[in-house]
Amino acid sequence: MQNLQRIQRQPVDSGIKIQMEATAMQKLWLWTDMAKGEVSCLGLVDEVVNADSKRITALVVADFFLVKQNCSYDETDMDIADVARLITELESKGVDSRKLRCWAHSHGGMQVFWSGQDETCIAGLANGEWLLSLVVNKRRDAIMRLDQYHPSHMYLADVVWETKFPLVDGLAESCMSEFKSKVQEAAFVPRNRDYGPASLRDAKERGALTMDELNDELDWLGLDRDELEPF
Ligand SMILES: [Zn+2]
Repeated sequence: MQNLQRIQRQPVDSGIKIQMEATAMQKLWLWTDMAKGEVSCLGLVDEVVNADSKRITALVVADFFLVKQNCSYDETDMDIADVARLITELESKGVDSRKLRCWAHSHGGMQVFWSGQDETCIAGLANGEWLLSLVVNKRRDAIMRLDQYHPSHMYLADVVWETKFPLVDGLAESCMSEFKSKVQEAAFVPRNRDYGPASLRDAKERGALTMDELNDELDWLGLDRDELEPF
């Protein structure tokens, strides 16, 4: 019997946006579906830099490239010579090959996790700097990881990321006008979970939260019940 239970993950916010262009993601899913088992590809990452602060605000995986590789149901081994060929080809087109900072691979029908082999591969590809890694499977599970090797090796094994959908002209405006005409919102609507004990107490008193839901929220926020007094 298929196990439908999935492990609850808690991806960590890296403090910058991590995005995947929709077309790049689509290529990865296509290769994932075509492969009997594992498959790897390399991605170009654009750094989005704030003009004033000069700080990186987002990493956007713009495109993926397939290189020659040997794969089995539980291994994927990219041909070093063909990776070198890809680097030369990018440089000849005026693309800075140092932007090749994403390694994506599929575990085929297996679960997504970071294996010892994956760690070795990440260390090799990062080349002393930083690397985004994405592991997916045919069930559309996906985990993004961010490694840095300078000044020391640190990584986030499960970072928050999103697919970046192409902008459709006028879509935001038409959604906004439809929303305004059809959705009636109460004066206070929590837009995310970044709200404090007072609003939770308020929600409980209005009957919008059951005691179980309240306890879940408290656990999620890491708050003590004492902080909600009087109860
Ligand atoms: Zn792997």
